[in-house]
Amino acid sequence: MMRKNLVLLVQLVLLVLLVSCNKKEVNTARPVFCSDSAYVYIEKQMSFGPRVPNSSAHMQCAVWLIEQLRAAGGEVELQKGFMPDYRGNNQQIYNIIGHFNTPETASRSRILLGAHYDCRPWCDEEANYEDRFYNVPGANDGASGVGVLLEVARQLGQRIADSSLTTPVDIIFFDAEDMGSPRVYTGDERADTWCLGSQLWAMNYERKRTPSYQYGLILDMVGAPDAVFPLEMYSSQYAQNYQQKIWRAAEQLGYGAMFSNQRSYPITDDHYYINYIAGIPCVDVIHYDIRNATGFPAWWHTRNDDMSNISKQTLQAVGEVVMSQL
Ligand SMILES: [Zn+2]
Repeated sequence: MMRKNLVLLVQLVLLVLLVSCNKKEVNTARPVFCSDSAYVYIEKQMSFGPRVPNSSAHMQCAVWLIEQLRAAGGEVELQKGFMPDYRGNNQQIYNIIGHFNTPETASRSRILLGAHYDCRPWCDEEANYEDRFYNVPGANDGASGVGVLLEVARQLGQRIADSSLTTPVDIIFFDAEDMGSPRVYTGDERADTWCLGSQLWAMNYERKRTPSYQYGLILDMVGAPDAVFPLEMYSSQYAQNYQQKIWRAAEQLGYGAMFSNQRSYPITDDHYYINYIAGIPCVDVIHYDIRNATGFPAWWHTRNDDMSNISKQTLQAVGEVVMSQL
């Protein structure tokens, strides 16, 4: 009962926010996206606790994500499987896939939008050794990309309802992105211990399957007030045309400083396996700033990855850029 009330409450809050958002968007040429609702979707994920694989918070969040995609008008598929973790043990994987299309658009080639919904079990970047055994709260590292895509899903649902959807979209919430070997682990290092969910998905993807994908776009850590998204090198290597197109759109929307023309080192994220294994050109939008020591923000893989590092302005920018491509 408690849960049902909570769901109703969240829906009510969203409704109030949406009414206010929709008013603002009248008579503007900007892509329609409501960062207030994306923000609430992030808060809701945080309310479960860290969504670490094999925890009840993770399972509750997965169920909620399925409900949200369905409520938005998506046809939901749950992909289950096992992948070896950093010690070689079987890790259960649940990838959540929402298909957004109409009978008229179903056979057209699709755009893949993805984000990981799991949290890292260890705060590797904490200075104190003891603190490294805490779970990462994951407001940015996980929840932010999912929050933006849930709002994109809601917008796509409206397009399906009023028959204005032209490009079919698959939204995929990948599991177990952030389970790569912890720094405290002293055993043998295995290769490919990150991005387990997207590896499973890519290995099961049939390249000749129709409809195919035009390209993919991954969002990771897209909510910080000082976010900088560089031209990540694997994206440039495998999907340069799409990366250029997205960054140009960002510039035209006035977000050229955030979607910067800095080039970054290659980053192992879900897009890498979608490019490398599935052969789908895929671009990563990830917060990485070459001016920082690790390249990643100071809260990255620490206990400070919380709501204080989430900005509605950043969510709005990322959301508008994504919507401009659909
Ligand atoms: Zn991470």
